Amino acid sequence: MCGEMSLLNLICYNVASEGGEILLYKAPRGTADILPEEQGYWRYIEDKAVALCRLYGYQRLDTPAFEDAGLFARSIGESTDIVTKEMYTFKDRSGNTLALRPEGTAPVCRAYLEHGLDNLPQPVKLYYLAAIFRYERPQAGRYRQHYQFGFEAIGDADPALDAEVIEMAWQFFKSLGLDHLFLYINSIGCKVCRRGYLNSLKSYYSAHIAGLCLDCKTRVERNPLRLLDCKKPSCHDVAAAAPKSLEHLCQDCGTHFEAVRKYLDILKLPFEVNHRLVRGLDYYTKTVFEFQPLDQGAQNAVGGGGRYDDLIQELGGKPTPAVGFAAGMERVVLNLKRRKILVPHVPAPKVFVAYLGNEAKLEAIRLASALRKDGVAVLMATGDKSLKAQLRQANSIGTSYVAIVGEEEVKSQAVTLRNMSTGEQQVVSPVQLKRLLKE
Ligand code: AMP
Repeated sequence: MCGEMSLLNLICYNVASEGGEILLYKAPRGTADILPEEQGYWRYIEDKAVALCRLYGYQRLDTPAFEDAGLFARSIGESTDIVTKEMYTFKDRSGNTLALRPEGTAPVCRAYLEHGLDNLPQPVKLYYLAAIFRYERPQAGRYRQHYQFGFEAIGDADPALDAEVIEMAWQFFKSLGLDHLFLYINSIGCKVCRRGYLNSLKSYYSAHIAGLCLDCKTRVERNPLRLLDCKKPSCHDVAAAAPKSLEHLCQDCGTHFEAVRKYLDILKLPFEVNHRLVRGLDYYTKTVFEFQPLDQGAQNAVGGGGRYDDLIQELGGKPTPAVGFAAGMERVVLNLKRRKILVPHVPAPKVFVAYLGNEAKLEAIRLASALRKDGVAVLMATGDKSLKAQLRQANSIGTSYVAIVGEEEVKSQAVTLRNMSTGEQQVVSPVQLKRLLKE
């Protein structure tokens, strides 16, 4: 520790002695700071998400940022990219193997079982807004820490629930002004009919193995479903002509998918069946779906989801069908910007309280405190800047008014109120000031 400190001191000394400024730390690769000027987008999305969940009867659930690593390996799938390459797994000081949450559904199911939510009338409808961690190769819209808005309906097998979840996702994007998205759906069957499908995929891909990327060569035996959503262009053509899951559905899965399509038609939601849509997590059964912007590549899905009828049982519960959805918040922000959608500003404080001189400072402190107690948002000056500098500061922050307290004002127990858009000034009493600012 002592060694580290002296090294740090040395760096600081060198920096200072050269009169320069270097950054000792930056945000880790693949993570991003959400600066104040970006916050309007995030508040806008969160407000729409919360309003939507209220509309559809979903309740919020927050789970820890890390869980037992086994929860994810068991649910997402031991041989998925997320588990084999992307999880932030670590041992804590007690030797527990934990992982930062790489997705939101498994923690919701864990909490559902842990807190006996299976005893409530089903389906139980829950939503979350949470940070997600995946060690991926960072690029536009792909981060190592990103945020997801997700919702889950647990405890009902009715295909009408699949359609409701898809409609809710659709309404979420629409309420944000994102009406340029394309909805793709598919059914990947249940564990019974998938067996036959996987065999057919294996024999097809074995015959085309020479043209596959290195990862896909191993996937043929390990996890053939993952072959279909490989992002490498070399694997696309092979995937395009691969056997289709819909041709292998058992009667129950076929009827279910038929019903989902019928309900989507009733809801007037346009969709396209995409035979290559399988999603990157192993727990999905039957319906899978994804929303993609028309103007971007397949790796830029803004959101997606599906049914996961076996997951709760896999985690130790009784057989419990479920369906859910998650959207990536950064990608939503990206699309809002690309579509030039204006979001409401996070308002600046209404008034900046400026002062000139020590005595005036005492009055100004009193005034700012009184205004805030009355519910007026105030930004208080500090230090001993000139009035010009204080007005410049108020202007850059965007407050509508500046309340100026100087020697004269202290004497006359008044305040000069400056309207920042017109430049007009008037001398008012503190009572008048409160009334004016509250109007
Ligand atoms: P998934 O959990 O993979 O189904 O992802 C749900 C949504 O989260 C995707 O549709 C993306 O919008 C978003 N997403 C997934 N991975 C990332 C990432 N690494 N960076 C940013 N957004 C992501």
